[in-house]
Amino acid sequence: MKQFQPLAPSSTRRPPLRPRQSSDAGTKKFRPLVARSSTPPRPPGARVGAVAAVTSRFLTGGAVARAKYRAPVLARAPAPAPAAPPSPETQEPDAPPPATTPATAAATTTAPPVTTPVVVMHNACVERHLVPAGHQERPERTASARRVAQNVVRRRPAAVGGAWAAGASVSGGDVTEAILRAHSARYYASLEAATARATSPDARVELTPAGDTMGCGDSLLAARAAVAISIEAVRAARRVPCAACLVRPPGHHVARDGKTAVAPSQGFCLLNSVAVAALEASANGFAKVAVVDFDVHHGNGTEDILSGDDRFFFASVHAFGGGTYPGTGGARTKSAANVLNVPLPPPIKKSGFRRAVEKIARRVKAFGPDLLLLSAGFDGHRDDLADLGRLDEEDYGRCTKILLASCGCPCVSILEGGYGRDCEGDDGVAREPGAGLAAAIDDQRLRSFDACLEAHLDACADHFHGAGATPPTPPEPASPLAVVRRLSEELEEE
Ligand SMILES: [Zn+2]
Repeated sequence: MKQFQPLAPSSTRRPPLRPRQSSDAGTKKFRPLVARSSTPPRPPGARVGAVAAVTSRFLTGGAVARAKYRAPVLARAPAPAPAAPPSPETQEPDAPPPATTPATAAATTTAPPVTTPVVVMHNACVERHLVPAGHQERPERTASARRVAQNVVRRRPAAVGGAWAAGASVSGGDVTEAILRAHSARYYASLEAATARATSPDARVELTPAGDTMGCGDSLLAARAAVAISIEAVRAARRVPCAACLVRPPGHHVARDGKTAVAPSQGFCLLNSVAVAALEASANGFAKVAVVDFDVHHGNGTEDILSGDDRFFFASVHAFGGGTYPGTGGARTKSAANVLNVPLPPPIKKSGFRRAVEKIARRVKAFGPDLLLLSAGFDGHRDDLADLGRLDEEDYGRCTKILLASCGCPCVSILEGGYGRDCEGDDGVAREPGAGLAAAIDDQRLRSFDACLEAHLDACADHFHGAGATPPTPPEPASPLAVVRRLSEELEEE
């Protein structure tokens, strides 16, 4: 996932796709972008204490309730928070994104209990992490994922529900506390300082010294939202058998102090949500937590944080060799006893991937976890920009089933990579959350990612609720806008 290539600003033609062989992302240095926004500079702390009205709708077993609460916008220095409600708020599947401002602090409403065994969790706040135009780790990913999940909720309402305003405690001290179990205070302060350099919430800034992890003034907010959603899922795990967290930016490459010693960069990652979730699970009484990372890249940051701690078992199946990012997790590298790395030569093939997953599943079964966390990355798909795998959505569905069958415990799935076909046709301006975002994802570029996520969610639903449900929804017809876009791109390419 780590080979972001910024577009040449003057180019009016789409450049050809990158070479098939992955290169070392650490050799790429990105030019800091000049802020494109016309938003006036925001004085430090200007958002502290601001209040935004947020509407939330709950859907439980067909009963819809509506509630309103007022949520303070995130303060730069998080204040101690009231206890977050353990139950995710659910919302009508086809409702618009609940907030372009972050949902923060505890809701004053009482959410009804979730009645579906699988809950998809999202908050539009994660799309506030803006990246340079043409960057593959873009807000459209989770916006598209949400749309996919909403379709699954509609198709299998008894099995899958949605919590579209999850992670409500994003500004809370409990989230900071959870983050600081996994990351050093020094590293967290470096993120605060980096995002504070942005002249406005959407101004692009380089967030890490290594250069491939760009963001904006709201990037830490979005990363905190990803963490908040993930730990909310863990806290709800005794009531909700399976939660799928649609979050970004990804986290599995970031170690306790940021970049790992060997990796060239942080690979778009700011906070390691899955590692924070594992430590949160332990703090919440889960004695044995298995973390399985099936993103096509090695979960080096997660290994760094969990290695040698026998409360956890960590396994990763990933591409290794030929300069593949991050260049760790190889067969010759000795790992701690609680770590299993299964490196595969790129491109990863279906049979090798399946054998690796089965090997990991045997170790998970032997470990006997009481909570399974999945670092769910779909960038091993044959059509993905990462270009490190020859897998398809069936492989990800099967992988999910094998891993879930290896243990009889709840599962929290946390999104990592998966980028789709290409993102080079964007119009040169990174998207803002909202209506423009919806239009931007309507062009099928994320189709392989969407298909993998749908297969993953269906596998979760099959495991926790049973198969034999309604047949898959036929793909939605492309909108007129998408057709026009695609035709104009094809003409441009000729
Ligand atoms: Zn990846």
